[in-house]
Amino acid sequence: MPVFVDKAKIFIQSGKGGDGHVSFRREKYVPNGGPDGGDGGKGGDIIFVVDEGLNTLADFHYGGKYKAENGQDGNKRRCHGKNGEDLYIKVPEGTVIKEAESGKVIADMSGDNKEVIVLKGGRGGNGNMHYATSTMQAPKYAQPGQPAITLEVLLELKVIADVGLVGFPNVGKSTFLSKVSNAKPKIANYHFTTLSPMLGVVDLNDANGFVVADIPGLIEGAADGAGLGHEFLRHIERTRMMIHVVDAASTEGRDPIEDIEAINSELAKYNADISKRPQVIAANKIDMLPEGEDAEIIQKIREKYEPMGVKVFATSTLTGKGIKELLYYVSKTISEMPKEKIVFEQEFFPEEMAREQDEAFTVEYDSDSQEYVIEGPKIEKMLGYTNLESEKGFAFFQKFLADNGILDELEKLHINEGDTVRMYGYSFEYYRNADTQPVDDEEEET
Ligand code: GDP
Ligand code: MG
Repeated sequence: MPVFVDKAKIFIQSGKGGDGHVSFRREKYVPNGGPDGGDGGKGGDIIFVVDEGLNTLADFHYGGKYKAENGQDGNKRRCHGKNGEDLYIKVPEGTVIKEAESGKVIADMSGDNKEVIVLKGGRGGNGNMHYATSTMQAPKYAQPGQPAITLEVLLELKVIADVGLVGFPNVGKSTFLSKVSNAKPKIANYHFTTLSPMLGVVDLNDANGFVVADIPGLIEGAADGAGLGHEFLRHIERTRMMIHVVDAASTEGRDPIEDIEAINSELAKYNADISKRPQVIAANKIDMLPEGEDAEIIQKIREKYEPMGVKVFATSTLTGKGIKELLYYVSKTISEMPKEKIVFEQEFFPEEMAREQDEAFTVEYDSDSQEYVIEGPKIEKMLGYTNLESEKGFAFFQKFLADNGILDELEKLHINEGDTVRMYGYSFEYYRNADTQPVDDEEEET
């Protein structure tokens, strides 16, 4: 029997942006053609889409890496590199995508979220054709494409149902679901017979229907992660109310009221919100009680819970007694509740991570060449739009190194006057009190 998978970890990677190209026009009779290096293409996005036909995360069971295509590099004669293909990842409705390390929500594929771009592909770099200026007619620099972003994500399927069935094993939850809906759950006298949450649609003739989820494995200690309970508790996070099924006939020797209390305290421990949602009690298996619904235990349950606003129905999922009344009551309660769905808010923003990666730089001393080496996407980018051969451009360059703390880093490494600093093919001699001219803000980036 295939095991139901409702949780999986995968790596996703956006496409890298293609690099800009460096080239110069070659024409007959034109000895020094202008720059004609084209731009790199954009990297592909990672896009999650809801596929109505899926209801498990089994496709992701073995993990793996899901990669969007890289953008192609630019080429000579102003040729633009091809954009990378986006990668669509199909998931069942109700899948919550989280950043694996922090557990923070990136996207909740439910409600109106049918398609979400989780990672944007890298921007393609500008070719050298963009960098020609009046003082710099043969720019040998082109902008690199933005790097790919890799992220490990946790996928969690949280079943979307209006009503959750909770209760100890063997109290009759699966039998209930099979009686009231089209679902065909396994019914047996074992604890944890149901390994996947089962959904069933309840159709009522003259009232609103609703979706019921049979949530298996809710046992004492479940909120602390004992047994299967914890794994499945997350499925009830989205239900709007609960049918609490209890074995009123004590067929396994437990006390029904103690059972109800134990389950409620597990719910509260797991998530205080859940325990505030409305409940009804199905005091089940009354066919096993000689006095049926008049039995003393039924009275005791009513006396304890009805004053708290929790309605108690004496039921038998075997004979069907009491079930119809319960269903109509549930339908009415749900219709009176606010319509809004429980959707998880975004807490983690991959774009911000990309920006941080983009802004990182390293300053190191290379003892082989005896040079100080500065690297990082932001430095590369700055060199891309700065014309070092113009006085203004060079002043901007110096100010940039100071403003970004790069000069401080060099000082920390005990750089001396006259030492060589290298960055992306450019080498400079270091001077401490370089005469930095004020730069006009408006023009500094052109
Ligand atoms: P679950 O573990 O809560 O899903 O319980 P099941 O629906 O699998 O039922 C467990 C056992 O209790 C099965 O043998 C059922 O036939 C039996 N059962 C369920 N409901 C009733 C009921 O109303 N009366 C009686 N006598 N037995 C029931
Ligand atoms: Mg069951």
